[in-house]
Amino acid sequence: MRSTGASSTRRVGSPAARADIDELYQSTADLPEKKSPAAQNLTWSRRQGIPQTSGARRIIPVNAPRHVVIIGAGITGAFAAHHLLKAGVRVTVLEAREKGAGSSSRSAACLRQQFSTPATVQAMVYSVAAYRRFAEEFRCSDGQGDVLVQNGYLFLYDRPDASDSPEHHSQRWKQAQSTVAMQQAHGLRDVELLSPEAIEDRFPHIRSDDLVGATFCPSDGFLRADMVYQEGFRRVVEMGGVLRQNEAVTGGVFDSNGRLQAVETSAGDRIEADIFINATNAWAPRVSESLGGSTLPISPIKRYLYFIERGPSITGDQLLSWPMTITSSRAYCRPENAEQLLAGWAHAAEAEPGFDWDDQDHIEPGFFHRSGLDNYGYQLWLQLAEALSIVGEFAGLAATTSGFYAVTPDHNPLIGFDPLQPTLLQVAGFSGHGAMMGPFSGAAAAAMALAGETLDQLDIEGTSIDLRHLIVGRQFNAGEGLVI
Ligand SMILES: Cc1cc2nc3c(=O)[nH]c(=O)nc-3n(C[C@H](O)[C@H](O)[C@H](O)COP(=O)(O)OP(=O)(O)OC[C@H]3O[C@@H](n4cnc5c(N)ncnc54)[C@H](O)[C@@H]3O)c2cc1C
Repeated sequence: MRSTGASSTRRVGSPAARADIDELYQSTADLPEKKSPAAQNLTWSRRQGIPQTSGARRIIPVNAPRHVVIIGAGITGAFAAHHLLKAGVRVTVLEAREKGAGSSSRSAACLRQQFSTPATVQAMVYSVAAYRRFAEEFRCSDGQGDVLVQNGYLFLYDRPDASDSPEHHSQRWKQAQSTVAMQQAHGLRDVELLSPEAIEDRFPHIRSDDLVGATFCPSDGFLRADMVYQEGFRRVVEMGGVLRQNEAVTGGVFDSNGRLQAVETSAGDRIEADIFINATNAWAPRVSESLGGSTLPISPIKRYLYFIERGPSITGDQLLSWPMTITSSRAYCRPENAEQLLAGWAHAAEAEPGFDWDDQDHIEPGFFHRSGLDNYGYQLWLQLAEALSIVGEFAGLAATTSGFYAVTPDHNPLIGFDPLQPTLLQVAGFSGHGAMMGPFSGAAAAAMALAGETLDQLDIEGTSIDLRHLIVGRQFNAGEGLVI
């Protein structure tokens, strides 16, 4: 694997490099703003210009990996595989169960570009554009690739004088206003601030009398997550990628220097590759340790979703037009289909690092919608009804589902080579936003795999996206402020 010594990148793997990374991460707040290069037809590139691809011409660096094993067949694995196959790399995906069996099939799959840091806003502007052209990129047959529903995404803010903690709410609204200005300056042109009158005008189902305002981005919305991984892996296999399901990675095979050379699987096989991508999200810490990687700071945390039946109070078409909406208490909902509203609300929960497969679907009695009127689903329903009063007239809770968030201390994922294991690339810890980030994280992972090193910048479709806040082994000094 090549080490270029280029100033734009930091090779990980040694204590010196680790100190360098720490210093680098700490200093990100002081960086001068980068200018986007002129629009170019790049799929991705390195700042110092070695590996580049374009639709017309593909250049594979001399020491580029010939074979990459991706562990985990969720949304992240699908995009990473697709990017690598496009670059001409041989790809094998190993999945312990079936594609989508992890969080990807249990996700609310909401999608927003409204984040609190410029790099994540830029990453999500790219992801939304990529999801918009998903059907074409993944060569889906008619109707099979419409994965993106752009109903918009609305954050509601309470009037400080109508709340118990006026100072807190006043601060939050001020912060929201400056965040919108930052988002607009970093490419999210259609995000806007709404007055209570504008909210009522556009969204008559929302009570605006206790609101100071809202932020709204019409190109946000939600995804059809099942379509993303089903169609994603259909295309991956069509392109020559190998998908081995019901075959878990159980350990690694190392050379005399302790370098990972191959993985062992539950089928008793041993698969060699140049690079191994750990795309197992909530399972990533245990997979990392089994492959000689570092102890990843990722906490699996249980999250529940509820399906609320519409009933006759509004029509199916009205429900289908609603944007994804987050109340001031961070309870959220969006239309699932013409009959149901999908809703969620993060509760205080302990991490479950030793969770088992079946724990994904284990619903504690206090969270089960049929376990009595004091269950969490009813609290959530009431909470939503305060902001969207028509929801109080809905017919009832129909179902509860659950899964694990893979939470990092700063709510940003870990994307980069492992400090202890130079052939292991970590792409995990999505902290509740991994479905929406799929195109970006797949692109970043593929670019690093091709470069053979951790990159601190991704040049993509005319924008340079800073990657330093994603480095594995970073310190967690700053974090994502808009977390659901
Ligand atoms: C309730 C809930 C709501 C969410 N809401 C949103 C949202 O609104 N928006 C959003 O963007 N994100 C949301 N998320 C998060 C999002 O779903 C995840 O971040 C995303 O799906 C992660 O995809 P992934 O491919 O990285 O991981 P996963 O989909 O979890 O895939 C990892 C795969 O690795 C496999 N695996 C594990 N161990 C091994 C092994 N040893 N060998 C081989 N394979 C293995 C698993 O079977 C699994 O299929 C939500 C998650 C939950 C649970």
